[in-house]
Amino acid sequence: MSVSIVETKDPRETEALGAELAAGLRDGDVVLVQGELGSGKTTFVRGAARALGVTDPITSPTFSIGHRYRATGTTVSHLDLYRLTGGLAAEDPALLEDYLGPGRIAFVEWPAGDSAELSSARLRVTLAHVGADRRRIEVVRG
Ligand code: ADP
Ligand code: MG
Repeated sequence: MSVSIVETKDPRETEALGAELAAGLRDGDVVLVQGELGSGKTTFVRGAARALGVTDPITSPTFSIGHRYRATGTTVSHLDLYRLTGGLAAEDPALLEDYLGPGRIAFVEWPAGDSAELSSARLRVTLAHVGADRRRIEVVRG
C-alpha cells in the first residue's frame, strides 16, 4: 500500500492528476473517489476519463447510478452512489455487473466516509476542500 497527498489549486490541476493516475490503470480496475459534495470528485473522474480516450461530455449521473462511456480499448464506467444510502450491498448485483468487471475501468464516486465495501479498489482517492479553489487529494494504492 502506498499513500500520496497532493494539493491542487484549480480544477485543471485536479483533472491533470486524474489523467496521470489513469495511465496506471488496467482492465477491470475500480477507482474509488471519495469526498464531500463539491470537493472535485467528478472533476477528477473527468480528467481520468479523458486520458482513457472518452470524448463524450462527462457529467454527473442523475437519473441512474452511473454512466458508461466508450474509451480507447475499454469502457469507462462512472458511478455516483451519493443517493445510495444502503451502500453497494443494497443494489441489484445484476445492475452493478453492467458497470464493473472485465472490459471496463470503473470510477465510483462515494460520499465522504466509510468505503469498506469496495476494498478491492485499485486506487482510493479522497478529496477535501482547503480554501476557495484548493483541494487536498489523498491517493492510496493497492
Ligand atoms: P463533486 O463531484 O465532488 O461533487 P465536482 O467535481 O462536481 O465535485 O465539483 C467541484 C467544483 O469545484 C467544480 O465547480 C470545480 O470547478 C470547482 N473547483 C474549484 N477548485 C477545484 C479544484 N482544485 N479541484 C477540483 N474542483 C475544483
Ligand atoms: Mg460528483
